[in-house]
This record gives sequence, C-alpha cells and structure tokens, in this order.
Amino acid sequence: MQWADLNQLDSLILETAALGASIEQIGVSGEGRSLYGVTVGEEQAKYTVVILAGCHATEIVGSLAAVAILRSIVQTPISSVRFGLVPVADPDCLYRNAATVSSRFTLQDALNLSHQRDLEGNFMAATYPECVAIRQWFQKFSKIDAYFSLHAAAPIAPGLFFYVGEPSDPPLVQQVMRDMAAIVPADIPLLKHDPTGVAQQVLAPGFFELGLPKVEPNHASPGSSLAFVADRFQPQFLAVSEIPFAVCPDLMNASLDEIHQVNMAVKHTGNTSQPLYEISLETQLHLLQSLVRSTVTQLMNS
Ligand SMILES: [Zn+2]
Repeated sequence: MQWADLNQLDSLILETAALGASIEQIGVSGEGRSLYGVTVGEEQAKYTVVILAGCHATEIVGSLAAVAILRSIVQTPISSVRFGLVPVADPDCLYRNAATVSSRFTLQDALNLSHQRDLEGNFMAATYPECVAIRQWFQKFSKIDAYFSLHAAAPIAPGLFFYVGEPSDPPLVQQVMRDMAAIVPADIPLLKHDPTGVAQQVLAPGFFELGLPKVEPNHASPGSSLAFVADRFQPQFLAVSEIPFAVCPDLMNASLDEIHQVNMAVKHTGNTSQPLYEISLETQLHLLQSLVRSTVTQLMNS
C-alpha cells in the first residue's frame, strides 16, 4: 500500500466483498459519508478480534493498516477467528486529510495534516454520530477477545510504544511483547517511559499499561473506545498503537513540550539540528500487522 491509497480507501474496502468480507454501512457521517463495518469469518468462530482505526483522522497510518490487515485476512482466512473492522471512524476528517496526501508523502506533509476531532476521547458520548454508530455495531458482537484501536504518535517521536488496556491477560501480553520486541528494527527504539505521562505502568520497553475507568450504567461519560470495549466484553487483550513517522533518539528523555517544539520546528522550517530516522510506510504497516498477527497467534495458543 502507499500513502496515496488514502484517497481510495472506500473502494479498497468495498472490493474485499468479492473475497468474502461482509461489508455493512453501519451509519453515515455528519456530512453523509458512509461509515463501514467489515466482518470476516464465521459468526461461530472461537475468537473474535475487533479493530478500530481513524478515531484521530490525522493519524492516517491506522486506517491504511486496517485496510492492509483486512486485505490480508480475506486472502488468508483463519478459520477459528472472526474479525470485525471499522477502518475509517471519521470519514469526513479523513477525506479532507486525504486530499492533501500524494504519492510523495513527506514528514512535513504528515506534520501539516490538520483535520481531526477526538472520537477516541469522546467515544462514549453522544457528541459524534460516528461514535454512536460504531458503539451500536460493536454491541452486535456476542464477544470480543482482542481489541485494537489504531493510532499514531506525533510525527516525530523519541521512539515506539503501545498501550495495553488494564484488564488484558498477563501471559498473553507477555507473549505479544516478546514477539514484537523480536521484530522491531534496531534503529527504532522501544520507549522505556511514556512521554505523555498517561500510562500507569511500564510492562516492558515499548509496552505501557493504561488504566481504564469503570463505566457506570446509564452514564454517558466521554470514555474511550477501550473503556467501552473493556466494560462490555472483558477481552483478553486491548491495545492502542502509537506509531511515529520519524524517530528522533535525541528526544529520548525529552518532555512532551520539547517533543512538541521539535515537531513544530520541522513543520515550519522543514529541518532540525537533531538526527531524524524516518520509518517507511512499509515498516509502519508491518509493525501494526505484526501486533495483530501475534495477538491472534497467541490467542489461539492460549
Ligand atoms: Zn490518536
């Protein structure tokens, strides 16, 4: 896949129907664009894995990865696993961002993506019709064993990390962390602490535990999709990816504000005195696909 495929995600999603994916229009966006929910695999499959992408529409690699994962699972189905995917949670913002993405997509282009709303932070509120539709669709699953919300970090970040939701099964998490540590390229550091300060605990380099607040019945709190899925389904594994476009190892011990300053400097001037290592789209997609693939393998072995 290429960055420019962002402009044809709907047709890439729809063409998987011919390979056996079941595609539903689960709702429409505020501006009337289709919101798609895709399922692959038998309803009675032993495991259900759900993937949501694009809650923050500037974090475009998530939606590309969701479509790449969809294409791979329809080509090579796994009989014991049913997948549910919402590759584009915010079609209106993604559409505007995609209009600025060409085949030659640069770090500075990534820094200039600007159309975004917080569908993750407001997932359980009534604010966005997209969130209401996705919640209703999720509730049709009789169970969810693993859940992923695909995000991206700031385009320039000190390294790579993933959040794991608090109720995840520790042995399963250990296996997935081991699998990921083995495939992350040596020039992409796995962070030893969470630069955002949101994580409760460092489980291993690159894996931070996220506490999820208890959801009160009939209380429309602005909780995240993770809190929603954790409350309704108690999955064995919940994860959020935070993949950067480029790594700046000099920022390893930087504060969030210093990281932001470097991002702004490169956005406005196009350069920085600090060394930057770009992560190719191919590698970004490989890392996200590997996270899902490893979890599926470990679920089946558990
Ligand atoms: Zn995000």
